[in-house]
Amino acid sequence: MSNELTIALAGNPNAGKTTLFNALTGARQHVGNYPGVTVDSKEGQYSKDGLKCRLVDLPGIYSLSPYSEEEVVARDYLVNQRPGVIINIVDAANLERNLYLSCQFMEMGVPMVIALNMIDVAKKRGLEIDHDRLSELIGLPVCPIVARTGQGISELMATAIAHAREHSKWQPADISYGDDLDSAMIDLTGMIEQGEFLTKDYPGRWTALKYLEKDDRHLSIGDSADVKLSSQLVAKVEQVSRHLEQTVGSEPDAMIADHRYGFIKSIVKQNVVHRTMDQDRLHASDRIDKVVTHRFAGPLIMLLILMGLYNFTFTYSALPIAWFEAFFSWLGGLADTHVAEGYFKSMLISGIIDGIGGVLGFVPLIMFMFFGIALLEDTGYLARVAFMMDRIFRIFGLHGSSVMAYVISGGIAGGCAVPGVMATRTLRSPKERMATLLTVPFMNCGAKLPVIALLVGAFFSEHQARYMFLFTLLAWVMALLAAKLLRMTVLRGPATPFVLELPPYRFPTFQGLLIHTWEKTWQYIKKAGTVILGISILIWAMMTFPGLPDADRQLFEVQRQQIASQATPALLAELDGPDEPSLAALAIQDDLLAVGGAEAEAALRYSVAGRIGTSMETVSWLPGFDWRTNIALVGGFAAKEVIISTLGTSYSLGEVDPDASDSLGTTLAKDSGWNAVKALSVIIFVMFYAPCFVTVACIVKEAGSWKWGVFSITFNTVFAFMFSSLVYQVGSRVF
Ligand code: GDP
Ligand code: MG
Repeated sequence: MSNELTIALAGNPNAGKTTLFNALTGARQHVGNYPGVTVDSKEGQYSKDGLKCRLVDLPGIYSLSPYSEEEVVARDYLVNQRPGVIINIVDAANLERNLYLSCQFMEMGVPMVIALNMIDVAKKRGLEIDHDRLSELIGLPVCPIVARTGQGISELMATAIAHAREHSKWQPADISYGDDLDSAMIDLTGMIEQGEFLTKDYPGRWTALKYLEKDDRHLSIGDSADVKLSSQLVAKVEQVSRHLEQTVGSEPDAMIADHRYGFIKSIVKQNVVHRTMDQDRLHASDRIDKVVTHRFAGPLIMLLILMGLYNFTFTYSALPIAWFEAFFSWLGGLADTHVAEGYFKSMLISGIIDGIGGVLGFVPLIMFMFFGIALLEDTGYLARVAFMMDRIFRIFGLHGSSVMAYVISGGIAGGCAVPGVMATRTLRSPKERMATLLTVPFMNCGAKLPVIALLVGAFFSEHQARYMFLFTLLAWVMALLAAKLLRMTVLRGPATPFVLELPPYRFPTFQGLLIHTWEKTWQYIKKAGTVILGISILIWAMMTFPGLPDADRQLFEVQRQQIASQATPALLAELDGPDEPSLAALAIQDDLLAVGGAEAEAALRYSVAGRIGTSMETVSWLPGFDWRTNIALVGGFAAKEVIISTLGTSYSLGEVDPDASDSLGTTLAKDSGWNAVKALSVIIFVMFYAPCFVTVACIVKEAGSWKWGVFSITFNTVFAFMFSSLVYQVGSRVF
């Protein structure tokens, strides 16, 4: 062995590499740059017993995948520069997470010792690590150190130098990835070693592993070395992938990651970590967590905090929302007085102004919601919520962090799926995230509530509160079951390996909160704005065109003239006059309004939406819907509030204010076409059918493809249709 030894320091960011590097090299160091990338390279000198060592501080990384510049730099360095030994710095206070990288170094086979750093921090948190036991189980030297004080570093260096002397050859660790992959690894390694494929630089087992993981970078290195053998390996991997997909519904890379975590867990569990539960010395965060994540108190506190967030959002955003509404109704009024009668005016008011108003109306809600979430996230509480809910949610193929999105979407009572869908961003695992964002629209948002309340009030008035509670519960059950269904079909796959860590509690900065909030709000305005305006105009057009034929319009005109001819000009003048009109004048006004209502009803039935509603009766008899309900439900795609106003129009009530819908409730309760079973069927359909298009626009954006928007509309509508049909058909036979 020569007199020069290169030692590389590698580990997760913040594990203490630089601190150790400085302690070892002092001033004898220089900073450079790796060619072509922005990653710093640091080198320095260290001498021990006459042996001069070159020390290299590698960039901090979490894994050896090729996804970041740092990871590529570290990997290339190890392969091309071949350091005599690496010192893998492991943060003792976060042992499991740090060992994930160690595990990958072991798979690579590079000679390595582990520096167990920050044992002082671990001790403060009540953790003591049996380094001898760890060393025995992992098969590598483990040296406890405190880089900041220099404790243990001279022993560490002696161990590292001795290890480099004894192990000059790379020796990949033989970790098991399960039967299927293990036998594939044997075949692949055989092919690789026989063909001497990249074996000069990389151990055969490592290349086999990288091919199984479909590591782009290694694949392209392989392709340029020997295309033919490389494609044979790829073909073999494809075969294994297909087999895995069929048998366990998983991909090789996910399986490999799972088994790495399993390997680490099995080591750490074997009495490596001792908890010294000395109350006084527990870290402050741990002490808070003893209460906040307590088995019984924890969920109660969580419920209170979630309800607090919910109240905060919906209470404080109410005022700005009212301002927006006032502004847009003022704008509508302005258009009403200044724009000439006709289709343009109608489009301007009902299509454009209402559409934009609808979009911007959500802005205060989204801002407050994201402010609240940023607060919970930045303080570290959100991680605790995820931690507590994880067990339950995992059963349904979701993740603990999903709970937030459900609550925001209306999981407690009222809410909105738009910020709910956007809140799924806190979920880091892709399949769990998709399953969550596709099912949050099942919650009873603030726009569905008035519809449900109207029907419950009209048909189940005796136990109103109980029914409302039951419908909230039903929303949860169905959302979770639907998520499970999705995770077993289109979103199949194992739970994404993802270690739940509990970061220490922190005080967030106000500026940070504001920046986070604004970024998310602006994204919403930009994306949702354009789509929404278009669809709003489309729906307006469907409910307007083609207008009533002239012949029919004249019939209504004739009726109006008949009414007017029975009244004296004085009576008619009273209606426009400043004083309270007499009863006779009011009776005439009522008659005129009734004709107007009937005309609106006829026009609606004649419109595109009306025809769709009528033609839908061929299937909608199953859940018991007539054409009027159908139109209302089609209109509900614009916004669920529209259901009430459209029902009002089609029952000749003219414009109906959703807040003052008593009269509609009474009308429906008296109508022979309605009964409790039909009301129940409509409620269930409204709860579960296609999300409103603002939500769909957000789903498309968050999922990254319009196909998921189409999927969401179809899946939810089919689901709702089947559910309501079942309820109606069974219900009308039993009752
Ligand atoms: P790097 O990202 O791996 O280079 O990590 P650094 O060397 O920059 O260390 C991150 C932080 O941990 C710094 O604030 C260090 O002062 C601190 N630190 C490093 N080693 C120790 C240690 O053994 N004990 C304690 N208490 N702090 C440490
Ligand atoms: Mg550093």
